[in-house]
Amino acid sequence: MSEDVPFESGRRLMIELQLRRRGIQDERVLEAMFRVPRHEFVPSAYVNAAYEDRPLPIGESETISQPYIVAVMTQASRVEAGDRALENGAGAGYQAAVLAYLGAKVNTVERNTKLAQAARERLKRLGYENVEVITGDGSEGYAPAAPYQVILVTAAAPRVPETLLDQLAEAGRLVIPVGDLHHQTLFVITRRGNEFSQEALDPCQFVPLIGKHGWPES
Ligand code: SAH
Repeated sequence: MSEDVPFESGRRLMIELQLRRRGIQDERVLEAMFRVPRHEFVPSAYVNAAYEDRPLPIGESETISQPYIVAVMTQASRVEAGDRALENGAGAGYQAAVLAYLGAKVNTVERNTKLAQAARERLKRLGYENVEVITGDGSEGYAPAAPYQVILVTAAAPRVPETLLDQLAEAGRLVIPVGDLHHQTLFVITRRGNEFSQEALDPCQFVPLIGKHGWPES
């Protein structure tokens, strides 16, 4: 893709300096984030900042996550080709595209109708066929396609929603930021039968998960 060339060096620097140097070791994740054109997922005013080390505004007061956080979540999910994956908080659709690049069948839920429609159109235009964008409250999960090997919540939750644990497949992984409105910790929760083990990853700052099992709409 010739229009991609100006962005290649930025993307390579992102991989080396922001991801590999900070401990992202899964070569598949690094490859996916090298291949998925993040500049296609940000508003035109931010195209030149697409590979910088920060979240960026995507309209509707929402943001696309910092590349490092996308990499941490994807690596922690241990996603494999053929996995069913659920994302809550489609936003621009970037995280969903990374999961799809890795061969997952992705259902991604977005509560904001405008963002959902834009993400749906963008992912289609860019050729990500194994992603379905659903408009709704992802804090309840998405029962029609459950169970999932991977669930990612890309908005801050006050606690782990029980319904998401119920929708995890055997040995499935839920990656979720839990905390207050300003500071959270990223957790990865793994299912073994009806037991769930939990590991804390990085501190993080996400926009709030608003819905039945998230924060109330104010
Ligand atoms: N993963 C996205 C960025 C997520 S930003 C990307 O790669 O671009 C968080 C998103 O979660 C916002 O778009 C917000 O509207 C959405 N959101 C918040 N609460 C939600 C809920 N209960 N269900 C679905 N989406 C929600």
